[in-house]
Amino acid sequence: MTKRTLISGGAIVSMDPKVGDLRQGDVLVEGDEVTQVGPSIAAGDAEVIDAAGTIVMPGLVNSHCHLWQTGTRADSMDQVFWDLVSSQWPKVAAYYSAEDVYACVLAGAADALNRGITTVLDFCHIVNTPEHAEENLRALRETGIRSRFLYGASMSRKLQEFEGEVENTDSWAHAREMRKQEFAGDDGLVSFGLAIQGPDVTTMEITASDLAEARQLGVPVGVHIGAPQGPPPKLSIKRMYEAGLLGPDINFSHCCETTDEELRMLATTGATATACPSLDMAFGMGCPATGRIRDAGLRPAVGTDSVIASSGDMFEELRVGLLYERMRRAEAIFATGRDVKTVDELEFTTREALESATINSAHAIFLGDKVGSLTPGKKADIILLRATDLNMVAASDLVGTIVGCATGQNVDTVMVGGNLVKRKGELVNIDVQRARQLFVEARDRLFGRQGYEGMRPPVTAGARA
Ligand SMILES: [Zn+2]
Repeated sequence: MTKRTLISGGAIVSMDPKVGDLRQGDVLVEGDEVTQVGPSIAAGDAEVIDAAGTIVMPGLVNSHCHLWQTGTRADSMDQVFWDLVSSQWPKVAAYYSAEDVYACVLAGAADALNRGITTVLDFCHIVNTPEHAEENLRALRETGIRSRFLYGASMSRKLQEFEGEVENTDSWAHAREMRKQEFAGDDGLVSFGLAIQGPDVTTMEITASDLAEARQLGVPVGVHIGAPQGPPPKLSIKRMYEAGLLGPDINFSHCCETTDEELRMLATTGATATACPSLDMAFGMGCPATGRIRDAGLRPAVGTDSVIASSGDMFEELRVGLLYERMRRAEAIFATGRDVKTVDELEFTTREALESATINSAHAIFLGDKVGSLTPGKKADIILLRATDLNMVAASDLVGTIVGCATGQNVDTVMVGGNLVKRKGELVNIDVQRARQLFVEARDRLFGRQGYEGMRPPVTAGARA
């Protein structure tokens, strides 16, 4: 018999314009889908989750991250992108074992779920061996998070590239095998794709060949783009456009130095774009492109990139994107010698910010028909925020409170595909103790292995030395 759950009496922010917001209402979940959203639903013998005092909304969608990099959390807060390329990748990432990847993805995915992120695009460019990809996938599946798993490059191969020993290409033989073995139906929580290096890093010929591979497999791709790697701007998207390579199966992340003309090329070809506001700014990569993406006719999406230099909290990410965009527009007005007189002049709204982390990010990773809003027929990926917490209490403007005040700490309940993964503030069905222990051991191995100069002893709960 199909399991039925009624989420009852919460304030609802659906992110579906047809459903709208409700000051108080119910959401009915049947099996893995939302089947009704309304002021009062008669659901018979359905299991009831009392949502009084909470805001019920779709799970957050992180449309660009690298969960394996949880292993070097916050180690790049005082670094720029070039430090990563010249130091952390060759000295740490090149020596990650498959076991390390498993532990880091397990901890990273559990952390994401705990903060209300129900879907991630996991850009896996740590495929040092085929087992690395398999262990990454195993960890994603074990946690019960929904994901777009992108199979990508090898960091140990990158080390050889830095030393000029090999050409900058990827081998897709094992990716092909994984597609066939693991994703035949594509109906599960994890969807497949390729993480290609793209024309900023390799040649246009290799990019064309990688895209042809993905298109033959019938899967989308993710590409890093417009994250400056030395002047002048590469105009990579323009070159892809001219080569006839753009299409509605490519997600571009960052886009900091991507021109407005190039963003319009993405819009006309159906490609998607994700800004990573915190990391883009912290890492000296450039200004978040959120507003420019919108102005080009695309749906702005946001991602955390990685916790090496961002918090990993999608509430923070959507807020930083909004704040930067408001500042950018205000600065343009100041430059004309005027003051900002109305908020309309700043254009970017709180609802648009919330869309960037829900419905737009779902669209950006090609899962927009499945998740991103509380819409009857979509998957039941739902979170409940405690509106009684001190930083949220007596919320009046629901969207304003989520965008202005909420953090991952306010997430009380998380459901993915109709299954509860967090309830009353605690993760369920995930062995958090084990995930934490495996992660600590992996960090010890990673930092012990190569004498990485960024290494500092971890804070642990052990006895005082
Ligand atoms: Zn990235």
